[in-house]
Amino acid sequence: MSRFLIISNRLPVQINLSEDNIEVTPSVGGLATGMMSVSKSSDSLWIGWSGIDKEKLSDDQRKMVNHALKEENAVDVHLTQDEVELYYEGFSNKTIWPLFHYFNQFVIYEEEQWQAYQQVNQKFADVIAENMEGVDKIWIHDYHLLLLPQMVKKRFPDATIGFFLHIPFPSYELFRILPWRNEIIRGMLGADLLGFHTFDYERHFMSAVRRLLGYDININEINLPRRIVKVDNFPMGIDYDKFHNMALASQKRSVREKSEVRKELERYYLLYPETKFILSIDRLDYTKGIINRLLAFEYFLKEYPEYRDKVTLVLLAVPSRIGVEQYQQMKSEVDETVGRINGEFSSINRTPIWYFYRSMPFENLVDLYNYCEIALITPIRDGMNLVAKEYIASKTDGRGVLILSEMAGASKEMSEALIINPNNKAQIAQAIKKAIEMPLDEQIERNTVLQKRLKRYDIEKWATDFLSALDKVRQNEQKYLAKKLTEANKNRIIEELKESNNRIFFLDYDGTLTDFYDNPQHAKPDAELYSLLDQIAEDPNNRVVLISGRDRQTFEEWFGDKPYTLIVEHGVWIRSAGSDWEMIEQLDDTWKEKIRSSLEFYVDRTPGSFVEEKNYSLVWHYRKSDPELGLNRAIELKDELTSLVANLNLEILEGNKVIEIKNRGINKGRAAQKLLQLNPADKIIAIGDDWTDEFLFSALPPDAISIKVGMANTLAGYKVENYEEVRDLLKEIIDGEQGLTD
Ligand code: UDP
Repeated sequence: MSRFLIISNRLPVQINLSEDNIEVTPSVGGLATGMMSVSKSSDSLWIGWSGIDKEKLSDDQRKMVNHALKEENAVDVHLTQDEVELYYEGFSNKTIWPLFHYFNQFVIYEEEQWQAYQQVNQKFADVIAENMEGVDKIWIHDYHLLLLPQMVKKRFPDATIGFFLHIPFPSYELFRILPWRNEIIRGMLGADLLGFHTFDYERHFMSAVRRLLGYDININEINLPRRIVKVDNFPMGIDYDKFHNMALASQKRSVREKSEVRKELERYYLLYPETKFILSIDRLDYTKGIINRLLAFEYFLKEYPEYRDKVTLVLLAVPSRIGVEQYQQMKSEVDETVGRINGEFSSINRTPIWYFYRSMPFENLVDLYNYCEIALITPIRDGMNLVAKEYIASKTDGRGVLILSEMAGASKEMSEALIINPNNKAQIAQAIKKAIEMPLDEQIERNTVLQKRLKRYDIEKWATDFLSALDKVRQNEQKYLAKKLTEANKNRIIEELKESNNRIFFLDYDGTLTDFYDNPQHAKPDAELYSLLDQIAEDPNNRVVLISGRDRQTFEEWFGDKPYTLIVEHGVWIRSAGSDWEMIEQLDDTWKEKIRSSLEFYVDRTPGSFVEEKNYSLVWHYRKSDPELGLNRAIELKDELTSLVANLNLEILEGNKVIEIKNRGINKGRAAQKLLQLNPADKIIAIGDDWTDEFLFSALPPDAISIKVGMANTLAGYKVENYEEVRDLLKEIIDGEQGLTD
């Protein structure tokens, strides 16, 4: 059985220390439940910080803690007091947390905290390394460990790594503010699968990758030089049955067994049967919009005085990050605002806001969810918001109205709730009124849909979905590895080539023999490349054919005096060494005038792009443009040209950051076939990097050796990573052939 590692900042355990005893109890949070369900079938281990300062323990106590953790399949990453301050309270909660929640005004940039963040991530990597034996999969969680995937991948390239971000990923304009943005993105890209709660967060992440690192993105896959990283959204669910069943059980309890909270609510309801309880539950965090909520409630009381004696807001604020300044300030602000509203609207018998600053045991929490007619959840930003889901799950009779902020990730799946903008007081007040007045059958109708969805996509489903996506990524990787050009394959190719005395080398140019440059003219062949090609061409049994989308003039200039065959413009022109250019097929170019103006329009609207004119094609290049704008414009341009090209018997070729329009049916495959008809060869080797080369691969006989440069899917038999690997292969082929001649 393989081992499955789960990594999060905190271990899902509660440690209670007394003088002579240590009690470690598993915590029952959502993540722990989800992980429990997926780790059943494997030998799993949870790595994280236990929350206790081991420096303060005696040796014996430390041993006892370690032993107790082992019993729970947990391993502690020991953090010093300084590390907790700088990495956890510091960089994680004073830089990443506010920035990723769009609270730019609270973000601090401290080099010392950043250093500690790197150090602690490294510490986690070290503990992972110590526990790697036979590891199959690693699932890393959340914003405290953004650098960890890369650190682990570096040491264990074969490990399959998943990463899930439990908070929002901000838009590029926000993210770019971070001085260490590239390091963070690179850190995350160490994972094979990256998961976010919503499509928006995924989109923001992709945009940051494209703009900061310039990697190509293919729908939801990022093409790194050596690997593909898959990105997807997995909205986290809750343990639906746990909440629902607890609510059912609580209702059935006798008066004596009922929780104090429930008894109090019921007593009050007997006195004031018209009362509607509005529930508000969050950690006391500035992202949760508690002040906005209070102001909106105040607005409601003013705007709709007829309801003043009929509503009670139950405000549960759970203490959180008490050491951080903004949280202390917020606490005073909430205290003051609650005091002011209660001062203004209380009567002798009634107080509009019941305010609790504490956390509640699970049972009481469910009683609140189950009993309150309305839930008012208005975060300014929230990665998901589980309270909203738990509220709906606890509504056993289907009654109740959820008012939910559109800024919570949960709103994307809960459109049957009353969705509001947390900054719009009037809209929230109207929603409260609507909720109070909503007929019961409408409430039930809305909640039935919500409940069905939450029950189906619960925490277990979330975790298993993520892991099966991770397995798929691994299978794809294996597919890639299956085609990867290994030493053994290389030797086989060299041997096959040696056996022939009539060989032909079809070599694409850009991306295959050289790297890409912003200016295509900078991709001139260097001395090494000339020497390689010359050495191949020197052997009378070899024929070198450079087959490219480039224009005649450039290739003439670079290779005019070389003994190679040149095929350009994707197969329009051919030139054998020492001869003139010939057209492979007769073509018409009068269509160019009709297309040029469209392309020029796109050049004007897309800074950095330009049009290249070849004899029988027009090419719009956008490599130097903003990557996102370029891509969007390319999609628009293709769309615009589609009907035009069909009428003119043209076709659109989409290359690497280029869109080329050319006569239909002309491609590298057809050109290669024509050449082979005239000059048959008994061993063919073809190497190319972009999808225009797929025409070439598909046109060759089955015994041809075909090699794709890059990660994408291909018809070729083998894959190599980059042009440098191509050059290495060519060198080895030359050495191999010399070996034969010697
Ligand atoms: N919660 C709790 N005790 C309380 C109040 C809330 O355990 O007194 C739990 C609640 O059940 C929910 C979690 O805290 O599962 C809050 O999750 P959410 O996604 O709403 O917000 P977060 O605090 O993670 O930002």
